[in-house]
Amino acid sequence: MAIFPLSWTESAACRGREGALFFPPETGERKDDRLEREQNAKRICQTCAVRNECLTCALERRESHGIWGGMNESERRGLLRY
Ligand code: SF4
Repeated sequence: MAIFPLSWTESAACRGREGALFFPPETGERKDDRLEREQNAKRICQTCAVRNECLTCALERRESHGIWGGMNESERRGLLRY
């Protein structure tokens, strides 16, 4: 999760965790590695008390990378089509 001065981030389950789990490496990654990384990040999101706030923020900002609110960029684009 990116760091923004938003109050809900104080309650984020990913707070203090390795950001690399939530974003792809700049050097790229194999499909299997991406799927595993995203699954691990999404498991953390499932426990997060501010998941809705996080997802709403990502949708409003049209975040194009990373896991936000338990969804990757492709899944968020799907939501925005409806
Ligand atoms: S929903 Fe996931 S990415 Fe968003 S704040 Fe919670 S743990 Fe972090």
